[in-house]
Amino acid sequence: MARLDLHLHTTHSDGSLPPAEVLALAHKAGVTALAITDHDITTGIPEALEAGAGLGIEIIPGVEISSRFGESELHILGYFLDWQDPTLNARLAGLRDSRHRRNPQIVERLRALGCDLTYNEVRELAGTESVGRPHIARVLMEKDYVKSAKEAFDRFLAQGKTAYVPRELPEPADAMAWIRSAKGVPVLAHPLWAKQDGEGLFKLCEKLKAEGLGGMEVHYSTHNPKQTAELLDIARRLDLLVTGGSDFHGLTKPDIEVGVGRGGLTVPVKLLEPLKRAASV
Ligand code: AMP
Ligand code: ZN
Ligand code: FE
Ligand code: FE
Repeated sequence: MARLDLHLHTTHSDGSLPPAEVLALAHKAGVTALAITDHDITTGIPEALEAGAGLGIEIIPGVEISSRFGESELHILGYFLDWQDPTLNARLAGLRDSRHRRNPQIVERLRALGCDLTYNEVRELAGTESVGRPHIARVLMEKDYVKSAKEAFDRFLAQGKTAYVPRELPEPADAMAWIRSAKGVPVLAHPLWAKQDGEGLFKLCEKLKAEGLGGMEVHYSTHNPKQTAELLDIARRLDLLVTGGSDFHGLTKPDIEVGVGRGGLTVPVKLLEPLKRAASV
């Protein structure tokens, strides 16, 4: 069935497959348009555009920016960005620098806990400037300290765990303003990560909308039908655009497939035009 996938990671950030391989999987899954949304980097987009032209898949230039939400995070997706915008890319480079300040501290904690690894090994495995905890998880997997990325996060890397170190993050309003200033549409990724009840999430999205939010990721790999319906209701009440995607990462989220998530995800093709219109005004 024809579908969209507006949330995908590649080797340009913490995904394990290069853009062309992600697109080959998307093509098999019936995806007609997709967004590459690597964390804090846009370097994967040219390769995606080229592969998309070959496969007849429309490529929406995107990005995902983590922002501060108390002790936790809100992730903001940006769509139809001018991905070559120098100011945007300078800001993203600043976010990548904050990763390079935090990651060696995580590695130090892991070493103190008895795991023999170095940040150079992590950077080598990552092969990109946007280095994240999933890369550290993969080094731990390769060295047999953990069996899965999930175990690495549950034991060491998740917020509050033994090797966790927070990172300097922009405020959501700043992340959204950066996306807007590069002509993109800011969308709240996986809204349930905010761990709010229905009314709390409504209020949060209302505030974010006042600060520039354009849409909400209603369709997501881990949402059940009831959750999807509740998010759709909030999006409608706040007149937010509806988007959706798998958040495919390959190896570090092995249960998530391009286009279909855990099997039940379908992001309707009709959601693309309103998003495109919002980006062109
Ligand atoms: P970082 O960008 O370095 O803060 O790492 C956060 C990223 O790790 C998220 O964007 C997810 O892609 C990934 N992640 C978070 N929790 C988990 C988990 N339990 N298992 C696998 N990946 C995770
Ligand atoms: Zn990620
Ligand atoms: Fe995210
Ligand atoms: Fe993501």
